[in-house]
Amino acid sequence: MKTNRPENPHQAALLRLLRDGPRSRAQLNDLTSDGMSRSKLNGELDRLIELGLAAPDGFAESRGGRRSGLVRLSPATRFAGIDIGATSVDVAVTDGELNVLGHVSEPIDIRNGPAPVLDRVFDLVGKLREQGLYTQLNGAGIGVPGPVSFAEGVPVVPPIMPGWNRHPLRETVSQELGCPAMLDNDVNLMALGELHAGVARQVDDFLLVKIGTGVGCGIVVDGRIYRGVSGSAGDIGHMMVDEDGPVCPCGNIGCLEAYFGGSALAAQAESAARSGVSPHLAARLAATGSVTAEDVAMAAAQGDPVAIQLIRDGGRRVGQVLAGLVSFFNPGLVIIAGGVARLGHILLAEIRSVVYRRSLPLATGNLPIVLSELEDVAGVVGAARLISDHVYSA
Ligand SMILES: [Zn+2]
Repeated sequence: MKTNRPENPHQAALLRLLRDGPRSRAQLNDLTSDGMSRSKLNGELDRLIELGLAAPDGFAESRGGRRSGLVRLSPATRFAGIDIGATSVDVAVTDGELNVLGHVSEPIDIRNGPAPVLDRVFDLVGKLREQGLYTQLNGAGIGVPGPVSFAEGVPVVPPIMPGWNRHPLRETVSQELGCPAMLDNDVNLMALGELHAGVARQVDDFLLVKIGTGVGCGIVVDGRIYRGVSGSAGDIGHMMVDEDGPVCPCGNIGCLEAYFGGSALAAQAESAARSGVSPHLAARLAATGSVTAEDVAMAAAQGDPVAIQLIRDGGRRVGQVLAGLVSFFNPGLVIIAGGVARLGHILLAEIRSVVYRRSLPLATGNLPIVLSELEDVAGVVGAARLISDHVYSA
């Protein structure tokens, strides 16, 4: 079974408007005042209903005169959002308006390579199908924690994904699920998620900094992801913050990721635990044999001064890079997201203080720096948004 696609740019534009919720024909007429006559608009809407892409939805309240018919996206529309992380995978099924109807998650190890990881992904999608959440998908969006050639739909030399280089991921998912698919990196998808349903709903130009195992930045310009010429825009984890700094796994010296991010933080915390300066972290190390970023968060919450200092130091480095980005890009909002962002307000306070101190007042005068609102679902909602942008284009 194949689902229909819009036949022209007018139909595509109408579907994107309906993605924000049902609209009356009169409202749609106001919103598409760029040259579509009322009869043309009604013709396109009728055609979308015929194609099974939209559906009538009763009548709007009268604005005086005849009541205008409401139209919505077809209630059968379904998108899959697949967010593959370094250590877990999240799969969700949404309706056409990208409301999450079902969401499942499980731990994986991305280093096992594409075959076993994709087996788990397709099992999880199948589970949502068995729950009756869909019979046919209109499209699937996929995110991975590494650089992606957006045009080809393949990961390219992803540092933490051995075995995935140039794996035809978009094609594999599209064939297995029988629908169009699109692939992007996880950070861009989180930014799209926040744009669609999170803190960035009313913001056209913003940055999302993801601090997970590594560090990356999603760049949204004029309501669209900016990917750069080859798709690597926003790869800020390997910007140099100290030319005398430690060697980074990438081979360069003093990268941001060598100072902060899940891996660096865990290593610093472990050395603090071993040297005995932090009883909290030493206790975690004794109990579990390792120390993680979450342990640092927990120790900081209990007032452990060493843990608090580790978070402040990391926040200062991130703030240093971000201050440069803010001066360069003049965003309307900065979102801090990712697992390590759950270090929360100590981290946020440090980042804010560095950015506000080091960027010029004109850039920061009206610049909120906030934590992600969607957290765990930002990636899957963003993945659904990515594929719906593709499906709702002519
Ligand atoms: Zn590096």
